[in-house]
Amino acid sequence: MKSPELQRALLAWYRRARRDLPWRRARDPYAIWLSETMLQQTRVETVLPYYRRFLEALPTVRSLAEAPESRVLSLWSGLGYYRRARMLHAAAKRIVREHRGELPREVEGLRQLEGVGDYTAGAVASIAYGVRAALVDGNVTRVFSRLFAVEDDTSASAGKARIWDIARALVASAPGDPGDWNQALMELGAVVCTPRGPACEQCPVQAFCAARARGLVDELPRVSAKRPPTEVRRVSLVLVSSDARRVLLARRRPDALFGGLWEPPSVEAETDAAAGALARRLGVDASALESVGEVLHVLTHRRMRVTVLRGPLPAKRRWPTPGPDYDAARAVPMADLGEIAHATLTRKVLVLAKAAAPSVRSRSSR
Ligand code: SF4
Repeated sequence: MKSPELQRALLAWYRRARRDLPWRRARDPYAIWLSETMLQQTRVETVLPYYRRFLEALPTVRSLAEAPESRVLSLWSGLGYYRRARMLHAAAKRIVREHRGELPREVEGLRQLEGVGDYTAGAVASIAYGVRAALVDGNVTRVFSRLFAVEDDTSASAGKARIWDIARALVASAPGDPGDWNQALMELGAVVCTPRGPACEQCPVQAFCAARARGLVDELPRVSAKRPPTEVRRVSLVLVSSDARRVLLARRRPDALFGGLWEPPSVEAETDAAAGALARRLGVDASALESVGEVLHVLTHRRMRVTVLRGPLPAKRRWPTPGPDYDAARAVPMADLGEIAHATLTRKVLVLAKAAAPSVRSRSSR
């Protein structure tokens, strides 16, 4: 597929209008890989401070490979989808072990790395190394389905294959840097050809847009209905010392949801009986627990409703693991919460518990 005028118009617009983002100033493959990993399912504005902090703390593949996992997860705390951080860490170790610390240049080599799919491999190869590699993400799918009026279901394999075919054909014939071409497509999808209310009047490629010509803009891309998220009920125990300086946290097993992160001991349960059993296991009399409210937390496939119970922290030196999802537990000084890897859900739970212990909030919300 050749569309030279479309390509020239889009590239000219990108050079003129692109947002000034720190990873666009980078040519370092590691920095580009990091940014692309962080940007998966996450907004640019959210990623910016994490990206800067992470690169400052771990500026090279080697430094990432050598860092303990707890450090990596702590730098990722609050960004969500923690599997990305664990995969990034594992891949950095592999790059040091098998590639002398340098990211592979070709898509095939990149695809061998933990957590690197077709999209990320295409992004790193094209942006960092100038390889004519295609990439497709949600933005690119939307742009192509509209520009070329692709009416297939783009969440089904035939529709996906069609979008990838277009991406490969266009990156092969794009003038200049293939990394610029790929970024121009993503930029168009992010700021002009948005999911709802695309700014067609300001679009640099409106003259080439088949969906616009045929009045299909609002109907594309077509995707089959998503499954609704599963409802999950949880009870979380926030056990706080009498001087309000320490709270009990437990670490999730690596293979559990939120693996490697610390949180107040929780149990998936609807019933008070399960919460009572958890409390007893930790040496707390269930009658000493008070309910401080409920937290709602929505993940891609789960809608979690968490009842937060607050209670006294028993004096103990060693803690049993609170349940099968955990591999460690300890009483953590509130002052250290900012250094401990935890999910946004934990922050919400601790902030709610702050209704009875204000010091929890000031530390956990850093
Ligand atoms: Fe998207 Fe509208 Fe541009 Fe077509 S004209 S590519 S629908 S923004």
